[in-house]
Amino acid sequence: MAGRLIVISNRIPTGDPSGGLVVALHDALLARGGVWVGADPDPSEEGRECLHELGDIPYRKRAFRLSKTERQNYYSGFANSVLWPICHRRTDLIEIKSEYRADYLAVNLRLARLIAQDLAPQDVVWVHDYHFLPLAMMLRSLGVTNRIGFFLHIPFPNITDLAILPRPEDFARWLASYNLLGLQTRGDVARALEMFRADPRAEFLRDGTVKFDEHIVTVASFPIGIDCDQIEATARRADPGPFGAANPRELIIGADRLDYTKGLPHKFEAFGRLLQGRVDRDARPTLLQIASPSRADVAAYRQITNDLQAISGRINGQYSELDWQPLRFVHRSVARDRLIGLMRRAEVGLVTPLADGMNLVAKEFVAAQAPDNPGVLVLSRFAGAAEDMKGALLINPHDLDETAGAIDYALAMPLDERRKRHADCLAVVRDSRISVWTDRYLARLASCVPTLALSRHQAASA
Ligand code: ADP
Repeated sequence: MAGRLIVISNRIPTGDPSGGLVVALHDALLARGGVWVGADPDPSEEGRECLHELGDIPYRKRAFRLSKTERQNYYSGFANSVLWPICHRRTDLIEIKSEYRADYLAVNLRLARLIAQDLAPQDVVWVHDYHFLPLAMMLRSLGVTNRIGFFLHIPFPNITDLAILPRPEDFARWLASYNLLGLQTRGDVARALEMFRADPRAEFLRDGTVKFDEHIVTVASFPIGIDCDQIEATARRADPGPFGAANPRELIIGADRLDYTKGLPHKFEAFGRLLQGRVDRDARPTLLQIASPSRADVAAYRQITNDLQAISGRINGQYSELDWQPLRFVHRSVARDRLIGLMRRAEVGLVTPLADGMNLVAKEFVAAQAPDNPGVLVLSRFAGAAEDMKGALLINPHDLDETAGAIDYALAMPLDERRKRHADCLAVVRDSRISVWTDRYLARLASCVPTLALSRHQAASA
């Protein structure tokens, strides 16, 4: 019998599980038993030295608490103002401060100690995302030899961008302390291997694994997916809700967290280009961009919000008619069922990130379509989803004319071609469904080379 599963993620869900990844991890924890560890969802709960139990369910949820300063330095600082921009090729937005790194390491070390206290020998640890890169190295230094897997949900950085990190040499060492380094795409795997190849401390073994100091790490891609059966079922009964007086004839939908990586200014400008180039003045496409607020305590996010308000105002000022507002920029979250209903109602799904680990909106849009009369996905080639979704119209979001042309083509696409492209995309979405993703990852982790016990001396000097 396999040991318990210990999941570590930034967000620890409360209430009924919802959302593909949360449900999948919940199911894996139900099946194996275990513990889900994450930051306390209530930021007013400040505290330090223990893990707090949240509710009683078949597996345990334990929350770690951050002080206000730690939240600023560890979370908004090192995680979201250093690692996030580095991984998304926005090195211009990096803010380096020594206290960011110090608190990032301090929070991870505190967490490692708390987790190590509670680990049984057969337990398997699965760490999620860039908030916890050094966790395995710290657990190893405490003598933990359990299998520890990591999954990076965001893009693996370019080797040249990594050099901008304070102490860039740490990055490879952090990751090599895991047994399995899971990444979204084959492109991410290539970048991770390039990092190890350039590092004299790393040695490639004949089975493709990487030996680094005393550790052996497997690097592989596990493209994440969605619960497509559930989204397809929701879409069949979902109601997009009322549109008011201006019910759009041709609806283009965008739904993103309001993040500078999502290429929203590019999306708006490309839509403006489409309006500018319209031959048929009676054509009245509407871009409905729903953007959920995100990370407003980081300056770059406040800036992009202002930029988007200015661009949408300009485009609407230029092209609106008395009975038509071409761009509707809705800066809030929308209930899940309604969002899926809007996706099904839309003729085009427009997904334009400049860099994105996977992009689940692209997969949700495909799953939400009616197969006999589907809408068309226009997808940035810089989303991880584009690596396999060749049925989408792939675009370079920096090329506004190309994006405008793709939207135009999508709006006019004959039914046969829409069906064919949609069937191709849906096959990819179904192949990567989230329940399969969890099973594949955990099976691979179980088959990884185990970590040998380090002597106390080695552990202490690690
Ligand atoms: P990220 O994880 O970077 O935010 P993804 O596209 O992978 O990007 O996942 C975003 C998730 O948030 C999707 O499940 C999507 O449906 C949901 N979402 C995005 N925008 C909104 C919105 N405005 N309202 C509600 N849900 C949203």
